[in-house]
Amino acid sequence: MGSPLHVLFMNSNLDQLKSLPSIDKLLLSDSLAVLIARVGKESVKLEARVQIDVLRKAILAEDESSLAWMSSPDFMAEFCQRISQAIEAQFASTLIPVFNLTGTVVHTNLGRASLPREAVDAMITAATNATNLEFDLSSGKRGDRDSHLERAICEMTGAEAATVVNNNAAAVLLVLNTLALGKEVIISRGELVEIGGAFRIPDVMESANCTLKEVGTTNRTHLKDYAAAINANTGLLMKVHTSNYEIRGFTNSVAESDLSELSKEKGIPFVSDLGSGSLVDLRQYGLPHEPTVKDTIEMGADLVTFSGDKLLGGPQAGIIVGKRELIDRVKSNALKRALRIDKITLAALLAVINLYKDPQRLNRRLPLLVDLSRPVAEIAEIAAQLMEPVAKTLKGKAQVEIQECKSQIGSGALPLDLMESRALCIVPVAEKGKTDLALNQLAANFRSLPKPVIGRIYDGKLLFDLRCLRDVDGFLQQLPSLNFW
Ligand SMILES: *Cc1c(COP(=O)(O)O)cnc(C)c1O
Repeated sequence: MGSPLHVLFMNSNLDQLKSLPSIDKLLLSDSLAVLIARVGKESVKLEARVQIDVLRKAILAEDESSLAWMSSPDFMAEFCQRISQAIEAQFASTLIPVFNLTGTVVHTNLGRASLPREAVDAMITAATNATNLEFDLSSGKRGDRDSHLERAICEMTGAEAATVVNNNAAAVLLVLNTLALGKEVIISRGELVEIGGAFRIPDVMESANCTLKEVGTTNRTHLKDYAAAINANTGLLMKVHTSNYEIRGFTNSVAESDLSELSKEKGIPFVSDLGSGSLVDLRQYGLPHEPTVKDTIEMGADLVTFSGDKLLGGPQAGIIVGKRELIDRVKSNALKRALRIDKITLAALLAVINLYKDPQRLNRRLPLLVDLSRPVAEIAEIAAQLMEPVAKTLKGKAQVEIQECKSQIGSGALPLDLMESRALCIVPVAEKGKTDLALNQLAANFRSLPKPVIGRIYDGKLLFDLRCLRDVDGFLQQLPSLNFW
């Protein structure tokens, strides 16, 4: 029914469709050979199909710019380029390194501690070989995965026995489920903590099938409160390190040693969840005091739980130490199998714990301690080095100055003990009423760099705390890639 003109159009469409590159020809082209060698023929074939389909639709829609592109001399080269880019994007990891300039050193959302070289080497060896993970080389029989770590952990903490699981939340869950299944757990009202949203002591109790028995008040709990709450159905006494807040003023909490005495008298285990749990006295590195795992064991806790990737500076893990008999019970709980750590984490944790055996060099070898103990003079030097290039890059867009600030350890450790630091303080130039928008835009610009820069917004300013900036050159090199609004 069509007019002659219509027929003509159809014909030219048909010609265009016929001239689309064929998949086979594309796969043989030199420009895609390197890509195929890297990711394989299948992925390239699939993407080529997708891109050819895009072209086909453009032809049918008579999209003029696409049609012009298809008849340009550079078309084939550019088309191959487009396929390559799409594949690069598909194969790129979404898990990428960032600059943590938030001022929170152990930042849970940014993956907590960076591992030392020694740990990385151990991980590679464990990952690329068969290992005696659960194999006793002397008897040739089945072994125990905890055996690799237990001696080193016990040496560092003075505990009789140790076991390791996926993280500290798992450690607490496992201990509660093992020692207090269907029973009551007595805990002070002042210690019903929530850590980072997902870990709340009352919820963990429920998941472990224990009943929470709160004693005392938010600010004051006495030994007699614990004593009065003990009954035939009490499973354990628990103390939780109030790691992300501190109650000040008219307060009282009961010392570990007193709780330990009470628990022995009543024949009920006493467990302390330390959260961060340091293995050494941090004061030797100029940091505030945090109770060590050893102190807590010495004060009579029957079991202590703590994280591998908080103050310890190791991989994600939960460590349980204490009385042999209790650790044995924990290990025979069927849940242990579901919560155990893998060989790669185990290798990393052992390497980190071994570094602790040489405390003099620890603050140079363990990245976490390098960051935590960095002298403020050194941070100020980095700030001075960055000031001019950053100001130049942001000229006309934002004002930059160096500001004194405080970093925090983070992840619940010593929240109120802030460490003196220096920050680049960036204030966008914006019309009145648009400063918040400009500030968020500026922060987003830095986050979209190849290695995203994460700062914190405070009081109308974007702050980059430089305590954790180790790669100054890397930071400077990508400044020209900043895209502005
Ligand atoms: C951080 C913390 C936890 C949870 O430890 P993860 O390693 O994050 O699982 C539990 N209890 C306390 C007191 C903590 O500070």
